[in-house]
Amino acid sequence: MTIDLHTHSRVSDGTESPADLVHAAAAAGLHVVALTDHDTTAGWDEAVAVAEDAGIALVRGIEISTRFRGAGVHLLAYLPDAADAALQAELGRIVDGREDRVPAMLARLRDLGIPATAEALAEVSGGNTVTGRPHIADLLVRLGVVADRDEAFTGYLTEGGPAYVDRYATDLVDMIALVNGARGVAVIAHPWGRGSAGVLDEAAFGVLKEAGLAGIEVDHLDHDPHARDGLRRIADRLNLIVTGSSDHHGAGKVGHDLGCETTAPAQLQRIVDRAAALGSPTTVVGKVS
Ligand code: AMP
Ligand code: ZN
Ligand code: FE
Ligand code: FE
Repeated sequence: MTIDLHTHSRVSDGTESPADLVHAAAAAGLHVVALTDHDTTAGWDEAVAVAEDAGIALVRGIEISTRFRGAGVHLLAYLPDAADAALQAELGRIVDGREDRVPAMLARLRDLGIPATAEALAEVSGGNTVTGRPHIADLLVRLGVVADRDEAFTGYLTEGGPAYVDRYATDLVDMIALVNGARGVAVIAHPWGRGSAGVLDEAAFGVLKEAGLAGIEVDHLDHDPHARDGLRRIADRLNLIVTGSSDHHGAGKVGHDLGCETTAPAQLQRIVDRAAALGSPTTVVGKVS
């Protein structure tokens, strides 16, 4: 059974609609896919509507922007109650922070002589509800300033880059509590990927487990074999769930093909069992078998 627990649609910074993403996942031979757009549940209904016909099981999730000891950390929340008011209010704060910084980033680019306007951005971002730096990267590609998203990040958008502007993110420990409060399962995304290596050591994972963390995304393209070994050992010792996933962004992230990294069925079962134990009304759509 092939299980991919971390993907993005164009509701955030992927390039496919949620429905197209679910169909693409089925066509790629996946048996289970999770939709985990950044900071929003806005794509869930569209994905649910097509999953059964597509013949694939769907896990509803979110990849949430948080901060821990000064560093940005992405937290995957699986199967939370989308109607939870406290969680949605905090997601709203994060999304507002994302929208607030966009004019500032465009102004930085214009200061550099690049004609980056809000109108031009709207043309490339294609009806998303959550705006991220990848959309501004797409604008830079469209304007002929860079060849691809990677080059846009390296030259302009990476933390500390000339067009980088910080934004609001929730404290990680607070967000784990909010996710659990919404009866969802909290898993740290790519903990030793870009930027966050060194922040989350074993002691930190111990603290986070006490706070309600359930798992670690170990098998991710941002982790080399050495990082994976280290994270797997930490997960073993702390009895945390181990996941693997593509972090697919459609055409927006080269190499992150659907199913290129996967989660073992027993680990998905732990996620499902934990959400059920928490009393979540959000279940997996379709059969996991
Ligand atoms: P933001 O959500 O605005 O903080 O932007 C972060 C997003 O940009 C994450 O989804 C990353 O996957 C993506 N990202 C970071 N670096 C790159 C890169 N070099 N190329 C493409 N996407 C990237
Ligand atoms: Zn993304
Ligand atoms: Fe991420
Ligand atoms: Fe992601």
